[in-house]
Amino acid sequence: MHKNKEDRNAYMRKYRKLKPLTAKQKRSYQDRKKRLRIKKKNKLVKYFGGKCSICGYDKCVNALEFHHKNPKEKGDTLSRNITFKKMLKEAKKCILVCTNCHREIHAKEWGSS
Ligand SMILES: [Zn+2]
Repeated sequence: MHKNKEDRNAYMRKYRKLKPLTAKQKRSYQDRKKRLRIKKKNKLVKYFGGKCSICGYDKCVNALEFHHKNPKEKGDTLSRNITFKKMLKEAKKCILVCTNCHREIHAKEWGSS
């Protein structure tokens, strides 16, 4: 196995050079990944009430984010392509907020430090 991400990436780069993906393969691969990520996010957002827990915004799922209540507990990042179960476990340490409120939370954090 590869020790770290860089090793693995280097290996993948080498492998892809020998056997490159066709444009079509590449597109469908990225599409699938994107679709899966959106699907999981939608499910997660719905699970958490589907709206910003601060201002109640619920118009667009894309504008809803998970804010870690305790950054020290941060595990796998939600944006990565992980299983729904893992996402759920991680999201339970978070509150669902809209991008606006999320920015405000962080602005306050930076302001106080
Ligand atoms: Zn909000």
